[in-house]
Amino acid sequence: MKHDADILIVGGGLSGCALAAALADGRRKIIVLEARQGKNPRFNGELIHPTGVDVLAARGMLAPLEAAGAAQVLGFAGVPAPGKPATVLPYREIPGSTPFGIGIDHRHLVDVLRREVDKLKPFVEVRTGERVTDVIRDQERVIGVQATSGPIYAPVVLACDGRHSKVRTLLGMEEHAKLLSFTAAALLADCKLPQPGFGHIFLGGWGPVLAYPIGKTDARACIDLPADMDRGTDAVIARVRVDYLPYLAPSVRASLLLALDAGEIELAANYAIYTDECTVPGAALVGDACGCSHPLTATGMTIALNDTRLVAEALAGVELSSRTQVDAALARYQTDRYRYVRAREILADALYEVFRGVDDGTRAIREGIFQYWESSEGARARSMALLSGHESRLPAFLREYLTVVLMSTSSVLRGQVNDPTLAGKLRSLVGLGRKSIEKLGLAAKGIREGNLRV
Ligand SMILES: Cc1cc2nc3c(=O)[nH]c(=O)nc-3n(C[C@H](O)[C@H](O)[C@H](O)COP(=O)(O)OP(=O)(O)OC[C@H]3O[C@@H](n4cnc5c(N)ncnc54)[C@H](O)[C@@H]3O)c2cc1C
Repeated sequence: MKHDADILIVGGGLSGCALAAALADGRRKIIVLEARQGKNPRFNGELIHPTGVDVLAARGMLAPLEAAGAAQVLGFAGVPAPGKPATVLPYREIPGSTPFGIGIDHRHLVDVLRREVDKLKPFVEVRTGERVTDVIRDQERVIGVQATSGPIYAPVVLACDGRHSKVRTLLGMEEHAKLLSFTAAALLADCKLPQPGFGHIFLGGWGPVLAYPIGKTDARACIDLPADMDRGTDAVIARVRVDYLPYLAPSVRASLLLALDAGEIELAANYAIYTDECTVPGAALVGDACGCSHPLTATGMTIALNDTRLVAEALAGVELSSRTQVDAALARYQTDRYRYVRAREILADALYEVFRGVDDGTRAIREGIFQYWESSEGARARSMALLSGHESRLPAFLREYLTVVLMSTSSVLRGQVNDPTLAGKLRSLVGLGRKSIEKLGLAAKGIREGNLRV
């Protein structure tokens, strides 16, 4: 059968570029098909945890990003309420972890990665303006794609076409998608964050506000807004002024006000999309094409970079003309990815609920989690290891979650809740119990499906 390449990658964003670099071995011919000619107009992620940074460093992509102005991010600072001191969670407390992540404007990030991938010519070729509209099959097997310029054939097709993946739909893969909220993003020009170098999470508004460095002096604010609110720019700005600004540190508030006055905000939808499979004979999904979580935990790109590492490891040394070898490699990738991702998905979901604190149960857990973080360096390190993707075992997530729930329960019993009456305490305890059962159920499902790594 005629092949145009050994491997076709659909999508030339973060995942597509990192995957091309990971697979380029100086032998295989790789073609990346990117639908757009110019930059992606949609606001996308910017903060990459140390585990993702390690993958970029291994591909020689960290130094160019740093040279292009990426900021080092040293960890997180949680501010539970205005005027309360920040709880600081540094990456350096995680044993064995690189002590920093990075923050950089997403479009700038993709530009730098594309430039790096361009250097891999002639083994890697990026074709822009090539939108994939269909997959070509030989019976059950994917053998190529239909793109803008016509059919293109390869023994392996890897779809990095983002969370609304066309390829995922074409392959008939099931997904569970839910619109959670919206992000309003604004540049905080020349902003001194209260804890320099840290990503801040300000709580108290309808949803959390994230503020993190993206350059030497600039930072970004990401404000979580209700899914059902009016999305006109004026309405969003008015809502942010009233419902979110009071919860921010003065320096962040001042910079954000300037952006709001200039009407400079971008809106992006926040989805939770889950899949249970990401491979079919001859093809696999990588990065957001496999699904995504609320961006609060900033794990999308770290997961995507880990995916690219796993695919490259699985396909290393595989004879691509052997369908059996290719399918076995893709099956290995599928198993390893979901083992890594499941704990992250549950954590993202749980933390978003807790940081929004919509009911007595989640508000009690929020109290508990801050107490837990203040209790010891070990507690902070374990939480940060989970958050940053350094630790991905479901039992580790469960241990941490249950410890926080126990701590929250003891606070409730001691009356450290919004409503310390007997009825208030009971509501908190019932909420705590309900949330624990829900998360335990999700973790048990993951374990039943074989995503247990001890
Ligand atoms: C508001 C918001 C904030 C976020 N914040 C963070 C954060 O701080 N940290 C973090 O880690 N993650 C964050 N994320 C998630 C992060 O943006 C994604 O995980 C990341 O962009 C995934 O990269 P990707 O390459 O898989 O997909 P994408 O970035 O979506 O790239 C897909 C590429 O495929 C191309 N494409 C699409 N369809 C086709 C087609 N049919 N043919 C050819 N090409 C196609 C697109 O043009 C695009 O270039 C955030 C997401 C949102 C929405």
